[in-house]
Parts: sequence; structure tokens; C-alpha cells
Amino acid sequence: MADSPFATRRRSLRALVRAAGADALLVTNLLNIRYLTGFTGSNAALLLDAEGDERTLFCTDGRYVTQSQEEVPDLELVNDRASAAALAKRAKGRTGFESQHVSVEQYETLHALAEDAELARTPGLVERLRLIKDEHEIGALRKACAAADAALAQLIERGGIRPGRTEREVARELENLMLDHGSAARSFESIVAAGPNSAIPHHRPTGAVLATGDFLKLDFGATVEGYHSDMTRTLVLGKAAGWQRELYDLVSQAQTEGSAAVRPGAVTKDVDKAARGVIERAGHGDEFSHGLGHGVGLEIHEAPSLAKKGDGTLAAGMTVTVEPGVYLAGRGGVRIEDTLVVRDTVPELLTLSGKDLVVV
Ligand code: ZN
Ligand code: ZN
Repeated sequence: MADSPFATRRRSLRALVRAAGADALLVTNLLNIRYLTGFTGSNAALLLDAEGDERTLFCTDGRYVTQSQEEVPDLELVNDRASAAALAKRAKGRTGFESQHVSVEQYETLHALAEDAELARTPGLVERLRLIKDEHEIGALRKACAAADAALAQLIERGGIRPGRTEREVARELENLMLDHGSAARSFESIVAAGPNSAIPHHRPTGAVLATGDFLKLDFGATVEGYHSDMTRTLVLGKAAGWQRELYDLVSQAQTEGSAAVRPGAVTKDVDKAARGVIERAGHGDEFSHGLGHGVGLEIHEAPSLAKKGDGTLAAGMTVTVEPGVYLAGRGGVRIEDTLVVRDTVPELLTLSGKDLVVV
């Protein structure tokens, strides 16, 4: 039988644990546990032994015993409410722990309980693996992006974006449509920003009423199998004014240049620069007030970050957003955002909604 993706990830992690000089790793972050086991409950810990799955322990409490037998059939189960403490007691040898996720209080408890082990700080080992998505993960991301694409298309088609509606009404309908199209939950609080509100990068939907001539900026995402999608589209209601077309074309060109710079080996700040340069040369550098993009996966914002500073490099299998924006205070703003997979040749676009200016 072929390994499950989870068993494959645990095997990759073992190499990192051994390279960190440890005999085992105590994993306490729930997203990392989900990544390594498929477990979706709210309480668990994993003691990954560097030798193999036969000596690896998975702990959750009584509420999740049945669920964990389905989700994690291939690891020995420990049933204990204090999951991390129960596994710390069983740890032997040099045992790494996720020091960036553990509070000082938790550390002291674990340290006191781990009588047969020497606890060692090993931050970020699982996150290092999570940077590069496997095809199983990319499949889930593709489905999440497709749910968002389908929801937007249906919202436009049924006339859901029209003068007289409020930002909140549009947000609710968009989120319901994503659920209809297979999303388990919204990926984050949707941004629906009409008229001057579109100049606020992270505007929260209000009772503001959509009017003819407004920009409408929609930034939203779906979640499938725990993986998030992230997309922004900016539309115009009624008829686009000259300044709106100009602004849209500028951001669109920056988005194209930024996406074209996404390739293995690219330095993250250079990808940012590829898009930012277009906006700076047009004299709007100060009005592009955030980074170009971020990684997306089990978290809506994760590594790598595409920003003005950062010497990290991209690698095939990373998933990033490219989302330049220009925000003219009091008038309106445009952001266009896609989610892309870094591939050896050209990046794979996951968010497939069209990017020509849509006038509804
Ligand atoms: Zn977004
Ligand atoms: Zn984003």
C-alpha cells in the first residue's frame, strides 16, 4: 500500500529531527499535527520518534477517540486530556519541542514531566516542510480557489452586485455561495469595500450602500480540507470613469509583472520590486502601503512573505499570493490578488476569475 501523504510528511520530518540532533520531536501546534496526521480535532499532541512510526505516539482525549481512529489509524493512540504533558512523560532521549508555540508556563510543566528526556528548542521544523506544498495540498488549495471563483461568478451572474445593496449584504451572499460550492468555512473575514471605502486596504464590511460609479473591492476566500484560498477582485458599478480605468490598468500591470517574477530561485524582495516598480514609476509608490504577497496554506498568512525586505528565495511548490494595490484616500482603491503555485516553468494560477475590469 502506498504511504498516506501524512506518513510521507512524517518521514521527511524525521530527517530534519535527526539533523537537529534530536531523537524525537514533541509536536504541540494543532495545525502542524493536522499536517502530519490528518487529525482535525481541537486537542492533540504528537511525539514523533526519529526511528519510525512504530515508536511514534499520538495523543488526544476521550471526545476524539472515534474520530482519531478514522483520521489517524496508523499511529499508536494515547488517550489523555493533557495531551502534551502525557507525551512529555513518555519522552526519552533528546526531544525537540516547538519552542515558538510553547509558552513559558507550558515549557516549565513539560520540563518537569519529561524526567527521561532532555528537552531541546527546535523551532520551525514542521513549518519548514509546510513551505513546500505536496500535490495533495495543492489539490486542496485548487478546490478552495475554485469554490471562491464559482461563488464570485454566480454572484455577478445573478445580479448580486448592484446599487442599493450594502457591503454586508454582498459579503454574506458571497460567503454563502462559497459554502454552496464546497467551502467548509470562509477563509477569513471577507473584505467588501464600496466607493471611498475601497481605498482602505483591510476595510470591514459595513452598512455602506453601493452606488453607481463606485469601485467595489472584494477580498475573500474559501477553505477546503483546511486549506485556504485568497483572492481580490475590484469591479466598477455602472460606468468606469477615466481615473478608475487608469488606476485599474496600473494595478493590473503591476500584478502581471509581479506574477511573472514568481519562479524558483527568485529573491522575495525582487518579486515585490517587480510589481512595486511599476506603481512607483507611475508616481503612486506611497499609495501601495503593504507587501506584495504572502504564503497561503493551512494558514491564510504563512511563509514566505513577499515584501520590500527579505532575502528568502522561492522554490517550486511554494504557494504565494501576488496582490498589489493602490489606494487613493477619499476616492477609491484597486487591489488585484491571485494565489499562485511556484512551478519550475511558469507559475500555476489557482484563482482563475478573470482580471479584465468588470463593470456590473
Ligand atoms: Zn486577500
Ligand atoms: Zn492575501
